[in-house]
Amino acid sequence: MSVPTPPRLAVVIADGLRADVAEQAMGHVWALVEAGRATATRYACALPGLSRPLYATLLTGLLPVDHGIVTNEAVQACPATWLHDAHAEGLRSGVVAYHWFYELLSGERFNPLLHRQAVPAGAGIVGARWYFEDAYPDSHTLADAEALRQQHQPELLLVHPMGPDDAGHRHGGESDAYRLCARRLDGVLAHALPLWHAAGYDVLLTSDHGMGRDRMHGGADPSERVVPFVWMPHTGRAADALADQLALPLPVGSTGLRDFIRSHRRLAQAQASGG
Ligand SMILES: [Zn+2]
Repeated sequence: MSVPTPPRLAVVIADGLRADVAEQAMGHVWALVEAGRATATRYACALPGLSRPLYATLLTGLLPVDHGIVTNEAVQACPATWLHDAHAEGLRSGVVAYHWFYELLSGERFNPLLHRQAVPAGAGIVGARWYFEDAYPDSHTLADAEALRQQHQPELLLVHPMGPDDAGHRHGGESDAYRLCARRLDGVLAHALPLWHAAGYDVLLTSDHGMGRDRMHGGADPSERVVPFVWMPHTGRAADALADQLALPLPVGSTGLRDFIRSHRRLAQAQASGG
């Protein structure tokens, strides 16, 4: 009997990455899709399509009107998240994300000099790197994530690159600079994905919201709202992906990520036990 391997999952939330630009500009990720090694779809994010409310929605599975964090200025803890779910099952998480995630998980205002690597209690986080400049490069975010993964081998890895959102606010969602940012993120992922897959991590790429040509997001226009959802299992066999095996609805929507992650764990555990 083989030793069960723990289910491993890397969740990449690329901030402000709209679906059409992801599909057009991210050649490595879509090479996996074309080769049948990944499954891609898209969904319209919950409203308001603002970052902090949607970080909380992606983490908790609740709509902003239900979790109550409806502005970017709200510094408060969100309800229990999928990190807490995993912690309750004895699994460990690593997080590299913008400091607003720290505030959602800790309930306290982020202080760069105190909290750069602080670990909020109760969510099973064994290692964290919080950045606090919108222009923090995606290459650094991914390198931080890989360093953290090598150090802790967490079962869950949450990685949150800010590049597309920052480029979109500076230049607009239909600018060359915004597309270039998506291309660069794709290039960084081309380095990270083989490492993560080899270590047994299934990888999920999605976004919180899109980006309008007017350099903003938040409303209901498809450019601001439609985001990618790409499932890249470490087996390289998308036909065996949990979406097929569990008949999980794809796209999951902003509120469906928590259930998707829970279902992934159920399937991985069943497979590890020979079920
Ligand atoms: Zn933004």
